[in-house]
Amino acid sequence: MTLTTTVYLICFAPGIPRGNGARVPHYLGSTSMDVHERLAVHLAGKGSPLVKAAADRGLEPRVVRTWPGCKRDERGLKSRHNLAALCPHCGPAFRERTRRAQRARRAAEKKARETAEAIGLHPQNAMTGRSQNARRSKAGAPRAQDRAA
Ligand SMILES: [Zn+2]
Repeated sequence: MTLTTTVYLICFAPGIPRGNGARVPHYLGSTSMDVHERLAVHLAGKGSPLVKAAADRGLEPRVVRTWPGCKRDERGLKSRHNLAALCPHCGPAFRERTRRAQRARRAAEKKARETAEAIGLHPQNAMTGRSQNARRSKAGAPRAQDRAA
């Protein structure tokens, strides 16, 4: 096992299309090398195919952030599934999109609750549209709405 000492984030926004409309704009790795030497290895086609593909598309991959750490730290950051939030270039826009999505979701939930109240449905069933009877038939089972509250 190779000892790694630096975790690094490479940004190549706007990223490589993934086929589902989304794009992959970041790569997170770890190395015991100097990170710029490591980037040169990627660009030479001997590292991540993703970074090489980004360079081939003219996206100019660059190291935008580093942390002292090892492979385990790299996995810890990857498991958060929000590399854009860690990027100094993409982070502010990512956080703004997240806030907008949260506001839209809260507004939709509020509207659903108001609609449910207007038609006499129990408000907690508003998002699923289940009737009181359907809920009673599952009496005793934990409700996702209660846990999320
Ligand atoms: Zn970025």
